[in-house]
Amino acid sequence: MRALLLILIAFAVQGAGQIRNDFERNMNKPIEPFKIVDNIYYVGASDVAVYLITTEKGHIILDAGFAETVPMVEANVKKLGFELSDVKILLNNHAHSDHAGGLALLKEKSGAKLYAPKKQAKQLRRGGKQDFAWGDKLDFAPVEVDKRVRRDDKIRLGDVTINAMFTPGHTKGCTTYTTTANHGDERYQVAFVCSISALDYNLIDNKNYGSIRKDFEETFSVLRSLKVDVFLASHGVFFKLKEKLEAWKEDPETNPFVDRVGYRKFVTRMEAAFKKKLAAQKETKPNIKR
Ligand SMILES: [Zn+2]
Repeated sequence: MRALLLILIAFAVQGAGQIRNDFERNMNKPIEPFKIVDNIYYVGASDVAVYLITTEKGHIILDAGFAETVPMVEANVKKLGFELSDVKILLNNHAHSDHAGGLALLKEKSGAKLYAPKKQAKQLRRGGKQDFAWGDKLDFAPVEVDKRVRRDDKIRLGDVTINAMFTPGHTKGCTTYTTTANHGDERYQVAFVCSISALDYNLIDNKNYGSIRKDFEETFSVLRSLKVDVFLASHGVFFKLKEKLEAWKEDPETNPFVDRVGYRKFVTRMEAAFKKKLAAQKETKPNIKR
């Protein structure tokens, strides 16, 4: 009976689907899952990132991609020798359909608990509707949050600790998660950076998000001060997933995901783009007090 119910729910959620165009379809091509470092694995699609963090007491999955990504995640977890039913905690970088769209289905399939900050929980619960920038355009299957994540919370499972850093701007609840990984005698700082692109957002007098400029500025300052050894993020393009996989094939001895310089460059580049956008918006709105 429960199996039938799950199939019906899965069908209903999948039937809703989220992929809307070729751009999104291209982000969701299947790729081989792989171990990034220590107990951290990539189980996502070609660009839509999904991470598996394993412990002896069960596992954590960060992000779910689109609803259409979930069958790949399920297959990838299995391929790596783990069980979806051992996943205890689900996390989400931010509540946009390309990262949160599959959460309802993944939660059903795994039975895991979803943890999220208050502002993100609100968006997840209403399936991305009433987004400050997109309105109801990029909606997805709504999902209940089981546990609230507070600023600088430490999420613990087995011997793994994950820190929650609030990095709002791209969305109000954008959260960057960090953890540590062992590599020989070394301890690596690992960061799963939330999106920090300002898209075509109104940064100056945004009626739906009054603190957007301040939030972005604080986020950049926080990320600039963060020490990162292993740089990961919500989209493969942000941390050059494709290029790094090719480089790893060429030189299997050097793990390309250990990329301190790449992390700093990414934050610098995104902050420069934000500042440029802000300056351009100030030009076209000369009456706004600076
Ligand atoms: Zn996004």
